[in-house]
Amino acid sequence: MPPRGLAVFSVMTGVNHRVAAYGYRGGSLFERRDFSIGGVLVKHPQGDLLIDTGFGRDFREQFRTMPWIFRAVTFYTLWQPATEQLKITGYDRKSLRAILPTHSHWDHISGLPDFPGVPVWVTPREHEFIRGADTFQWGRLFSGIRYEELGFEGGPCLGFPASHDVYGDGSIVVVPAPGHTPGSVIIFVTLHNGLRYAFVGDLVWQLEGMDQREERPWISRRSDSDAEGTRENLLRMIAIKERLPELIIVPAHDMRAFAKLPALSQPRSGT
Ligand SMILES: [Zn+2]
Ligand SMILES: [Zn+2]
Repeated sequence: MPPRGLAVFSVMTGVNHRVAAYGYRGGSLFERRDFSIGGVLVKHPQGDLLIDTGFGRDFREQFRTMPWIFRAVTFYTLWQPATEQLKITGYDRKSLRAILPTHSHWDHISGLPDFPGVPVWVTPREHEFIRGADTFQWGRLFSGIRYEELGFEGGPCLGFPASHDVYGDGSIVVVPAPGHTPGSVIIFVTLHNGLRYAFVGDLVWQLEGMDQREERPWISRRSDSDAEGTRENLLRMIAIKERLPELIIVPAHDMRAFAKLPALSQPRSGT
């Protein structure tokens, strides 16, 4: 039973200015769409988790390591990094048990160095990916991060073959969702009042990916480690949504989905 006091907050750290066509197959090339870049603070009496960090304090410097062609077509606006937002809201850092990235791409873990000493939970497969040289995987840029490997000892869950129940109370359940990266995960959070969220990372980039069964466009699927795996997990999530229509699915980059969560602080431009 999820405990009272469990809560989720969006921690938006900025936006990536895109068009709908970039978000899902069939989207318009002319419809501007801002992609959310940020994380989610899950407050739990036994220790809080930060799902993804979004843009960190050193983002500009980190971004310079990206290929010029990618930089040339990527336009972003930075708000305050998660670490600053936690500070201004008077958050007690001792409550933060771990950071749990949905996967280790640049826009999800840029803020890891802002949380020295906080464990970062990754699957063994993602940990291996982090040790590799993939351009979009920024674990390669950081040193001294305390990775802890996450096992899936919990058996099947909601159509996924295995699971990890973080506190054993069913409130935060992590399932493997390999495809976008080898060790991508989906995190289900169930509040005491029964509200249930699925933080699906980059399984889809926009909600249309689920609602219209439109996967990400060809250009972005190409960057998946295993496009078949992504497709399989997308179909799993669509089946779950059919069974549990009240489930709130939150793709990491969909502003409309994030707007359904209370915000930790009002978005503000960083300095
Ligand atoms: Zn990604
Ligand atoms: Zn992403």
